[in-house]
Amino acid sequence: MTATLLDGRQLAKKLRNELSAEVAAFTEEYGVVPTIAVVRAGEDPASVSYGGAIEKAFAKQGMGFALHTLPETASQGEIVDLAAVKGALSPDKDIDGVHPVNTGRLTQAAPIGRPAMVGPFFVPATPAGGLEILKQYEIELQGKHAVVVGRSNIVGKPMAMLLLRENATVTMCHSRTADLAAVCRSADILCAAVGRARMIRGDWVKPGAIVIDFGVNFVDGQMCGDVDFEAVKEVAGLITPVPGGTGPMTNVMLMRNVIAAARRTVAG
Ligand code: NDP
Repeated sequence: MTATLLDGRQLAKKLRNELSAEVAAFTEEYGVVPTIAVVRAGEDPASVSYGGAIEKAFAKQGMGFALHTLPETASQGEIVDLAAVKGALSPDKDIDGVHPVNTGRLTQAAPIGRPAMVGPFFVPATPAGGLEILKQYEIELQGKHAVVVGRSNIVGKPMAMLLLRENATVTMCHSRTADLAAVCRSADILCAAVGRARMIRGDWVKPGAIVIDFGVNFVDGQMCGDVDFEAVKEVAGLITPVPGGTGPMTNVMLMRNVIAAARRTVAG
C-alpha cells in the first residue's frame, strides 16, 4: 500500500471531545440542551437505523434528539412534497443545509480570504465532513484540480462548492460525463459521491492523488465505498477508507450544526 489513510474515525473522536466541552458550556449558560429534531415518514429500515444511530451519538454527547414520525400510509397532503418541506424549514434551524437560503448562500459565498458577502449558512453534514478531513490533515487546496463525481444536492454539489470556495479548480462529473476515467485521472483531489460500489478503479487515479470516498454501499453484507479501495490505495497518496472515513465525520458535522443553530436561536 502506498497511500496514507485519512482516518475519519480518529478525527471524529477528537472533534467529539472538543464538542463535548462546547455542549456542556452552552447548556450551563442557557439552560437549554441543543437538540436535533428528526421527521421520518414511514418505517424504512435504513431510515430507522440512521435515526437510531443519530439518537445514540447525540445522547453520548449530552445532546437531545426528538423524533416525529408520520405513518407509512400518510397521504401526500400530510407529508407535503419535499421541496415544500425544505422551504418551510427555518433556514436558521436547517442543520443539514437543504433550505434554498442555505444552498444559495453557499453558492454565493466569496472565496476564502475575501469578505464573505453573504449571511451565515449551514452546509450539508456529509460534504462538510469531507472538507473537514482535508483541512484537519492540512491538505493544500488552493490551485489544485479537484474532481467531484456525483452532483446530488446533499453531497456532490455542495462538496464542489466548498472546494471552489477554498480556491481549488473544480470539475463536476455525473452519469453523462464523457470519458469519466480520464477526467478522474486528471484530479489532484478526487471525491466520489456516486452510490456505485467500487466504481472508481485504480487506473482512474493519478499517482499521489488525494481520494475522498463518500460512498456507502453493501456488497455481500460488507460495507464498501464508491472507490475500489484495494486497487486505489496502491496508487493514491492519501485516501479515506470505507468504513472509517467520511461516514464518522457526518454525525460530528451534524452536531456542530445543531450547536450553531441553538446559538442562533438563543441569540434571537
Ligand atoms: P445520488 O444518487 O443522489 O447521486 C448520485 C450521483 O452520482 C448523481 O449525480 C449521478 O449522476 C452520479 N452517477 C450515478 N451513476 C454514475 C456513473 N455511472 N458515472 C458517473 N456518475 C454517476 O447519491 P447521493 O449523493 O445521495 O450519495 C452518493 C453516495 O454517498 C452514496 O453512496 C451514498 O450512500 C453516500 N452517502 C454517504 C453519506 C456519508 O455520511 N458518508 C451521506 C449521504 C450519502 P446524475 O446526476 O447524472 O444522475
